[in-house]
Amino acid sequence: MIAQDIEKVLLSEEEIENRCVELAHQIEADYKESGDTPIIVGLLKGSVPFMAELIKRFEFPCEIDFMSVSSYDGTESIGDVRILKDMDLSCKNRSILVVEDIIDTGRTLVEVKKMFKNKGCLDVRCVTLLDKPSRRVCEIEADYVGFEVPNEFVVGYGLDYNQKYRNLPFIGVLKPEIYQ
Ligand code: 5GP
Ligand code: MG
Ligand code: MG
Repeated sequence: MIAQDIEKVLLSEEEIENRCVELAHQIEADYKESGDTPIIVGLLKGSVPFMAELIKRFEFPCEIDFMSVSSYDGTESIGDVRILKDMDLSCKNRSILVVEDIIDTGRTLVEVKKMFKNKGCLDVRCVTLLDKPSRRVCEIEADYVGFEVPNEFVVGYGLDYNQKYRNLPFIGVLKPEIYQ
């Protein structure tokens, strides 16, 4: 069982779900006020469980799309962001809410925001499940943050180590021997 590879659980399924309820209400209040119909853009693949947990609670009109950008290979950032799969919907003159699993160095979010602005988006915001501010190399913050996490490599709830552990229902840290 993959849960045996986990050294410690940082965030339980219940904690994550409770936080998603709060985030969804906050986001909904903001978009209701602006009157926008945003496109909710999930960055594949890490944002999928978090995005599902959020959007099922939105009661305002929105559209859904996905993008895939490359960033990490293993546990270290390669600092180079490429679009592997672009979104289907046109984002010109639209409000965008980017859904991320984690903001680490911030490079991905900087590049993705720049790309949306270049495409003529009206407003670009970001909601992230996790934030690791101690690792930041770019000056950028998400508009909505689920949890701040320490400088440890985390997996689960969408986040992978070499494509595995995304299906764990909680956020945890792997046993060191798994990396060896
Ligand atoms: P950034 O561009 O902010 O450095 O990195 C963003 C991406 O790196 C995240 O979307 C995620 O895919 C990956 N990443 C950063 N930190 C972690 C981590 O602790 N665990 C996992 N599994 N992925 C991470
Ligand atoms: Mg990501
Ligand atoms: Mg990854």
